[in-house]
Amino acid sequence: RGKRAFIAGVSDDNGYGWAIAKSLAAAGAEILVGTWVPTLNIFESSLRRGKFDESRKLPDGSLMEITKVYPLDAVYDNPEDVPEDVKANKRYSGSSNWTVQEVVEAVKQDFGSLDILVHSLANGPEVSKPLLETSRNGYLAAVSASSYSFVSLLKHFVPIMNPGGASISLTYIASERIIPGYGGGMSSAKAALESDTRVLAFEAGRKHKVRVNTISAGPLRSRAAKAIGFIDMMIDYSSANAPLQKELSAEEVGNAAAFLASPLASAITGAVVYVDNGLNAMGVGV
Ligand code: NAD
Repeated sequence: RGKRAFIAGVSDDNGYGWAIAKSLAAAGAEILVGTWVPTLNIFESSLRRGKFDESRKLPDGSLMEITKVYPLDAVYDNPEDVPEDVKANKRYSGSSNWTVQEVVEAVKQDFGSLDILVHSLANGPEVSKPLLETSRNGYLAAVSASSYSFVSLLKHFVPIMNPGGASISLTYIASERIIPGYGGGMSSAKAALESDTRVLAFEAGRKHKVRVNTISAGPLRSRAAKAIGFIDMMIDYSSANAPLQKELSAEEVGNAAAFLASPLASAITGAVVYVDNGLNAMGVGV
């Protein structure tokens, strides 16, 4: 049987989640995606209307099939956590069962088990503010959406993950080096995500034989990255200064994720793997 993968954080065909889904599909995995509730309608209708068909193309010429799209809001663990104003919000009331616990329950009912969990989501409402000007709420929201969301997804999915399974998240070097502009507690959230990768690798490894790794990716012009506002500058900086002077493609990150999720990486867990044209290794720009 092929592996079954759930990719949380796919809302269009521009981001890392989409590219990872494609690389996993090309390697023979069955693809389930979790799509942020407010973006569900536009994603599903674009998919249905064939808007993504060009970017669904796999190397063998076939089109990636997404077996099922689940609405998801990873900042809520169960229905009791959802505030009234969100429940009443039109974009949310149109769908149901989108808290983490309910999504995992639905996947369990639909398919029984999972092999690969991918977390490709982040959100920081104050990302454009320096850390010194970030509010407590903004900081906690960044950590909730970008770090605890992974803890929660793994915690709920791991009981139905097959031994030998793997999980992967996406991080950014702003966790360990100063990247002015990546504010609002997002740098802190990525530091938490990387630390949690190690602790969860131990816990999920011992208890479930599941591996936990994170990819520290270079800059990509995704929807989320465009919202931060400095993505073109970061891409130019990387092209100018990295050991490999080419623009990073989402597919390169997708392929690294497919490797990490595969038995080829069976001894790799608790790792931060750089997929960034080597930029992380530079001490000064030249
Ligand atoms: P993206 O916009 O494709 O993905 C982010 C996704 O998160 C979106 O689909 C959005 O709908 C979803 N999302 C936001 N809040 C959510 C919530 N509460 N519940 C469920 N989904 C939610 O952008 P991307 O840049 O591909 O981001 C994917 C991951 O890659 C993120 O973790 C990001 O930090 C990381 N990353 C991106 C870059 C870059 O330059 N783009 C670099 C390094 C790491």
